[in-house]
Amino acid sequence: MTHTTPSTAQPVHSPTHPTTITPHTTILENKTPIIEIDARSGFCHGVVTAIRKAEEELERSEQPLYCLGDIVHNSDEVERLERKGLSTITHDDLRKLTSSRVLLRAHGEPPSTYALAKEKGIEIIDATCPVVLRLQQRIKDTYDNSSPRPQIVIYGKAGHAEVNGLVGQTNGEAIVVENLDQLSKIDFSRDIAFYSQTTMPLQGFAEMVGEITRRLDAGVKFEYFDTICRQVANRVDHLRDFARRHDVILFVAGAKSSNGKVLYNECRSVNERSHLVSNPTDFRSEWLEGAESIGICGATSTPRWLMEDVRDTVATAVEKR
Ligand code: SF4
Repeated sequence: MTHTTPSTAQPVHSPTHPTTITPHTTILENKTPIIEIDARSGFCHGVVTAIRKAEEELERSEQPLYCLGDIVHNSDEVERLERKGLSTITHDDLRKLTSSRVLLRAHGEPPSTYALAKEKGIEIIDATCPVVLRLQQRIKDTYDNSSPRPQIVIYGKAGHAEVNGLVGQTNGEAIVVENLDQLSKIDFSRDIAFYSQTTMPLQGFAEMVGEITRRLDAGVKFEYFDTICRQVANRVDHLRDFARRHDVILFVAGAKSSNGKVLYNECRSVNERSHLVSNPTDFRSEWLEGAESIGICGATSTPRWLMEDVRDTVATAVEKR
């Protein structure tokens, strides 16, 4: 099956079939269920560009192409690209390579990765998202050019690839805080420059800023920069509306996607008949009992073709009744 056809994102109307799943489970009686894929779900610009670069490189040369870490937190999409020749490697693997082509994904990398690649004669295909690159540059600029240098604090998840790339701009000195409890890592008697990982929630950022402001000693300079990417943040309200409009929600996301878990929980908060599926095999037809409209949506790491596969599976289940 070819999975590259872009979706029209139009609601799909399955044929009307009065059906039963089991003798006791009647669904969609005499009604045509609406199945709609959310037009705004799926890859953000950064991921689309990274995948396009990988595909272009795979076509350009038959030399092996490696990707440092999963190109996207979705194992089905990673496997699709692996079938085309992309190999996923770790940082340990990178140390053992010489004279190869290595793609850096949208999350970005710290300067040490570029230095290692240079030392080993590795060609870098840099697919770092421009939004992340700009954030790296801002943090580096604060670190290199501020006098006196403030504490650089990053609101984000310690160990996340993007955060590693940001901390790398400060020679490893930036403080990473993920929640209010971790604010105790900060010295409130010293100046602070506060940034955010691009995929953190806006509300969490506002809470952190409020609490830091409250705890600051008098006369301390506190600068904060909302560096949250609107490709993600703007989806939350839209997704809640989408989830409210449907009887049943199938949220498609890989198990490794933190963005997927956050957005799925947003759906569940307004529609308790929301189900998280990583691909069509997770779908259970009994979820559709009595449903007249089914919404399919996903994370920024969810490929459009996977949502379409889930839609087709749902439509087939309905047709069989
Ligand atoms: S979420 Fe935003 S910053 Fe992150 S890769 Fe996508 S477009 Fe870039």
